[in-house]
Amino acid sequence: MSEKGVLVVISGFSGAGKGTVVKRLMENDSFRLSISATTRAPRPGEQDGREYFFLSREEFQKRIEEGRFLEWAEFSGNLYGTPKDYVWEQMSRGRDVILEIEAQGALQVKEQFGEAGLIFLAAPSMEVLRKRLVGRGTEDPEQVSRRLRQAVDEIEKMDRYDYIVINDELDTCVEQVRQIIRMLHERPCQKRELIESLREEAREMKLS
Ligand code: ADP
Ligand code: 5GP
Repeated sequence: MSEKGVLVVISGFSGAGKGTVVKRLMENDSFRLSISATTRAPRPGEQDGREYFFLSREEFQKRIEEGRFLEWAEFSGNLYGTPKDYVWEQMSRGRDVILEIEAQGALQVKEQFGEAGLIFLAAPSMEVLRKRLVGRGTEDPEQVSRRLRQAVDEIEKMDRYDYIVINDELDTCVEQVRQIIRMLHERPCQKRELIESLREEAREMKLS
């Protein structure tokens, strides 16, 4: 019996380790990572269709009007959105799809598709978060401060997620996320075919 895949949304503080955790998940499992569209310019080394689909604002707006995004949001002056077709296609083939997106988009996904599993990835403390942001070395001190202030806003959205995972020890964190994804498969919404076949069998056995 083929079961459809689950939709997993991972968001959380900048510097909490989302990229690191998602990379680890993609190494060992047959998950599919959705590639978002964005209007921001590619960073050095980024390739169209690999990190993002890089679109003009005009093209992005057109796709919003055509209803081609599962969710979209403006973040730091740029638009970001999840193309719908890829997500539904992979899930219907039984693949689990992972979205690594910011909080406004994550909450939109939940509104549109209540079965999505929302995971918020947090660092064990604000001090550890600060150290990780500094240690990553991709932001200057002013940007580090801006991201930490943004994390303060995100704390207020944490209780709207289904799961909060603390990324303290990386292996433990990756295993916890894998376990959550396994459990998402055990929900009744994933077992509709099974429920229907039990019902059918009961009818054939004249039990109902
Ligand atoms: P995000 O994608 O959430 O912004 P990153 O994956 O870039 O965060 O991680 C931020 C920094 O923290 C990186 O330098 C990464 O190597 C480091 N990091 C991630 N997870 C851990 C962990 N569990 N322990 C220590 N350092 C970590
Ligand atoms: P960056 O520009 O650093 O790649 O991404 C900025 C933020 O946008 C990150 O928090 C990232 O998770 C988020 N993001 C990436 N793709 C999407 C998307 O499709 N939708 C939403 N809502 N956020 C996204």
